[in-house]
Amino acid sequence: MIPQKTAKTKLLKEITKCRACRFCVDVCPTYQASIGVESMSAFGRLQILKYLLKGRLELDDAMTFCLYTCLQCKRCEIICKSKGQNLEICELIQLGRSLVSPTLVKGGKNAAI
Ligand code: SF4
Ligand code: SF4
Repeated sequence: MIPQKTAKTKLLKEITKCRACRFCVDVCPTYQASIGVESMSAFGRLQILKYLLKGRLELDDAMTFCLYTCLQCKRCEIICKSKGQNLEICELIQLGRSLVSPTLVKGGKNAAI
């Protein structure tokens, strides 16, 4: 298991590669279901993680909902890669979940959402 600080650095470095092209937004089924809430897309989730990891946001119920409703379907990742951006979005969201809410990931006593 990689140290938390290394994982955080790696995640932030990867998120920096996002070009904010937003090609991943429209294809995301949770974004579609939300009728236009960008936080419910891959781009939105990566932005939430970026600001949480930088300490500019504090995790709340709304952000937890956004992060944990990602279906890991990879539709965003396929379009991101097909456009040459090459982000492993699902892996990044998974890593982000484990860094910003380790209790939820491990199924701790506050795990019910
Ligand atoms: S498609 Fe990839 S590079 Fe473009 S906004 Fe989405 S995650 Fe970022
Ligand atoms: S993996 Fe998550 S963010 Fe990507 S398209 Fe599927 S639900 Fe949306």
